[in-house]
Amino acid sequence: MSLNAADASSPLPAECEVLVIGAGPAGSACARTLALAGVDVVLADQHAFPRDKVCGDGLIPDAYAALRQLGVLDEVMAVAQPVSHVGCVGPRGGRIDVPGTMAVLPRKQLDDILCKAAVRAGARLLPPARFEAPLEEAGLVVGARLRVGEAGREIRARWLVLATGAVPQALIAAGMCERRTPSGIALRGYVKNDAMVGRIKALDVVWHRKLRPGYGWIFPCRDGVFNIGVGIAHSHNTLKDGRLGMKDVNLREVFTTFTEVYAPARELMAGGTLQGDLKGAPLRCTLEGARYSRPGLIVTGEAAGTTYAFTGEGIGKALETGILAAQAMLAGRAGPHDDAAVRADYEARLRSLKPRFDLYEKANRVNVHPWLADLVIWRAQKSPRLLARMTGVLNETSNPGNLISLKGFRRLFLER
Ligand SMILES: Cc1cc2nc3c(=O)[nH]c(=O)nc-3n(C[C@H](O)[C@H](O)[C@H](O)COP(=O)(O)OP(=O)(O)OC[C@H]3O[C@@H](n4cnc5c(N)ncnc54)[C@H](O)[C@@H]3O)c2cc1C
Repeated sequence: MSLNAADASSPLPAECEVLVIGAGPAGSACARTLALAGVDVVLADQHAFPRDKVCGDGLIPDAYAALRQLGVLDEVMAVAQPVSHVGCVGPRGGRIDVPGTMAVLPRKQLDDILCKAAVRAGARLLPPARFEAPLEEAGLVVGARLRVGEAGREIRARWLVLATGAVPQALIAAGMCERRTPSGIALRGYVKNDAMVGRIKALDVVWHRKLRPGYGWIFPCRDGVFNIGVGIAHSHNTLKDGRLGMKDVNLREVFTTFTEVYAPARELMAGGTLQGDLKGAPLRCTLEGARYSRPGLIVTGEAAGTTYAFTGEGIGKALETGILAAQAMLAGRAGPHDDAAVRADYEARLRSLKPRFDLYEKANRVNVHPWLADLVIWRAQKSPRLLARMTGVLNETSNPGNLISLKGFRRLFLER
């Protein structure tokens, strides 16, 4: 199905019930959920799909579960590389493999599948359209002004959903941005190296003194291609010394360092071929940096800060919160017309996720003090219970507070 060729020929709608801006995981999940329930949804993105998105492409268990909930898991797994462990590698080379049901799929493919699934469900995808500003009447958002090619267009909607990711321009234009600077930055490239197939099988995440306050990763895609990158999901709390803030870090240098200090990264690069350029992008984490809603408007996905600090993973929570936004609007549709109740419902659903995000923010101290990774890995190698608790956190079957709290830290030394 060619999405844009089909839709470009039809005139733009003047109105719809819900206008979703951004066809990444959050926007497409929201649009699909609404369309399946019979809502008249229009989905708009500034890019024609399939489009690239700078990412590590790792689908951890929360993403897996959300893809299943959306009914697209089989389609995704038909083209993704299945992965059964996260490999945590400490500065001294110690390693622990934490089991989980996961996968790797380049975002160009993943987001195309999700966007097509939204269209299949009945969402109308616009030809590439850039959101410029909300339409407002007496403080209520009633649609959006878009730029389509050279032309400015207006679409009226009962609800406007911003699922515009980590770049803050749309949030700023809509008056929803509370913090322009991102929470983190990361850089990745694709390398083809057939000799490394079977040697890097897990989602390997690497901490090292020379990478602080960040980390490196290598994730295996299909066909001998690997996603390799470095990131700094910087925490406002952990960088009080001001010496290691994002502005002081040249990610390309960190990437080079990663390929020097971690032997598999060195081998991957030395014997492989870089496909395309190394590309960087911002992250917005910890459910912070933006208002979640205002009358007539809902912010979801990474625009609302749904990426985890510490690991930089956000596809799963972008999907989940896109679904939550849709569910709140659907619940509101079933009852009396009450905009405030829909917004309160959505915001409560987001806030219920906040403790988990806060704990990832706390765990971010490992990036600043990588010796903590050595300690946890060393203990987890000896303690099946600790490994079980790490598995519970990864699979979201137990609370990360168990690991990261002071009590959890004490148990690190006492537990067998
Ligand atoms: C280098 C890097 C590595 C990462 N690795 C991982 C990983 O391995 N696993 C993981 O789970 N997460 C990872 N993340 C985080 C993940 O990429 C995000 O959490 C996720 O993309 C958020 O999804 P989203 O739908 O909210 O936003 P996005 O995926 O960013 O989608 C937003 C969409 O909105 C569109 N848009 C933006 N502004 C406008 C506008 N004004 N008008 C119209 N359209 C607009 C964009 O074109 C885009 O298509 C990584 C991030 C980075 C930067």
